[in-house]
Amino acid sequence: MPQLNDPSLLRRDAYVGGQWLSAPADARFAVSDPATGKTIAEVADFDGEATERAIEAAHAALPAWRDRTAKDRANLMRAWRDLIMAHQDDLALLMTAEQGKPLAEASGEVAYGASFIEWFAEEGKRILGEVIPTHAPGKRVLVFRQAIGVVGAITPWNFPIATVTRKAAPALAAGCTAVIKPAPETPLCALALAELAHRAGIPAGVFNVVPSNRAAAVGEAMTTHPKVRKFTFTGSTAVGKLLMQQCASTVKKVSLELGGNAPFIVFDDADLDAAIEGVMLSKFRNTGQTCICANRILVQDGIYDAFAERLAERIADLNVGNGLDDGVMQGPLITGAAVDKVERLLTDATDKGARVRVGGQRHALGGTFFQPTLIEDVTAEMAMADEEIFGPVAALFRFRDEADAIQLANATEYGLAAYFYSRDLGRAFRVSEALEYGMVGVNEGLLSTENAPFGGVKQSGIGREGSHHGIEDFTEMKYVLLGGIGA
Ligand code: NAP
Repeated sequence: MPQLNDPSLLRRDAYVGGQWLSAPADARFAVSDPATGKTIAEVADFDGEATERAIEAAHAALPAWRDRTAKDRANLMRAWRDLIMAHQDDLALLMTAEQGKPLAEASGEVAYGASFIEWFAEEGKRILGEVIPTHAPGKRVLVFRQAIGVVGAITPWNFPIATVTRKAAPALAAGCTAVIKPAPETPLCALALAELAHRAGIPAGVFNVVPSNRAAAVGEAMTTHPKVRKFTFTGSTAVGKLLMQQCASTVKKVSLELGGNAPFIVFDDADLDAAIEGVMLSKFRNTGQTCICANRILVQDGIYDAFAERLAERIADLNVGNGLDDGVMQGPLITGAAVDKVERLLTDATDKGARVRVGGQRHALGGTFFQPTLIEDVTAEMAMADEEIFGPVAALFRFRDEADAIQLANATEYGLAAYFYSRDLGRAFRVSEALEYGMVGVNEGLLSTENAPFGGVKQSGIGREGSHHGIEDFTEMKYVLLGGIGA
């Protein structure tokens, strides 16, 4: 573990009701650095019952937090955000150590994560009700928007800070309290956020973090507890479906940010320089481990060869290594299982006729490092056309015309992010409208920002995070009919 300027940011216990608690029987699990395989911390392993106690703590804190003014809450959240930015370097070090992404990317994620706290602190002041013109004299029709209550949240390892703040910030700003279970690979960032929330003066029980290596038990507690009124999950579609089913028993409001299978379409009329830049950003951020990574790169016949040539040069130049080292652009994959999956998808594709042009093997560094890879002549019959690769593999598909591209792009159960490059304005509109995705980048390879609604359609999810829409799911609408007013 690299030395932190502020070593007390490295927390190993759960943060519940404003206190640091060990798990029952002091159960712990190891968090390791994917670049070295070495254990960096032994963290409290909460079970279902301990999670229920955290839910009770969040419930106890709810009335006082909900009854504060939005401005009061915003001031505390602003202090939290400022502390996060003041400790940006340490948080980035923690993130690289437990998640593996290069330090510059980790530092960027800290700022990105903090931006949601800033954004939603302000949005909390603008949760507006309505006065609807009445249907009868002497009556008034009002609509209140109120905090929904206790929020349960489960987050993945690929964005250990941003996936937490995208949920916690709108929850807190709306007047809700929250219990978060971070992924077992990356609990240290979430616990550091809790330490900073504590220092910022966020009251006890408002923000709780329960690390656990017993996802099913914690998930069951969160999804079935009657005092949790809203459940929000970021992770795979398979797990999201299961948790959504579990939420049915207590009819919770559910938000899901699930898997993707992003098409990245390059038309003949594209600016090739821009398309190459865009695809490198979209494909290789976080070593290809993002839900909005370009999974299928669809290139039109006329420019296919030139595009492949240039992309091959760029991929061959990517510097792989420990994210803490200078100049590293690609870190390790998160686990051995992730490497196995990438290998399986590559073998399936080459068996069916695809051609590896760059990389294609485990990296000489060993462990979970994999060579940045370009594979050509991938077709819809290959498994990587349907599955998230979640690794540093650029898969090139060929298409004939616009209709062909749209058909290929939409031929998936996922609908999170899509990208295309074209200089034709009419096509920009036509293709944007035709793509069955929640987000579309036109001549842009990076979409994420706190002021835009992030989320998917089809089996990529329900709800949106970020923007003014991102706070709506944490409120309930209440219709109040006020009678007896007189003429
Ligand atoms: P995952 O396997 O679904 O895990 C996500 C979280 O769910 C982890 O904390 C995991 O804990 C937990 N979990 C697993 N099984 C559970 C159960 N039965 N009950 C309760 N919790 C359970 O996904 P992942 O592989 O970590 O993350 C990558 C996936 O997330 C990809 O599909 C990616 O596209 C998606 N993702 C989506 C977005 C988005 O905004 N749409 C953003 C980032 C990632 P354990 O690890 O202990 O099982």
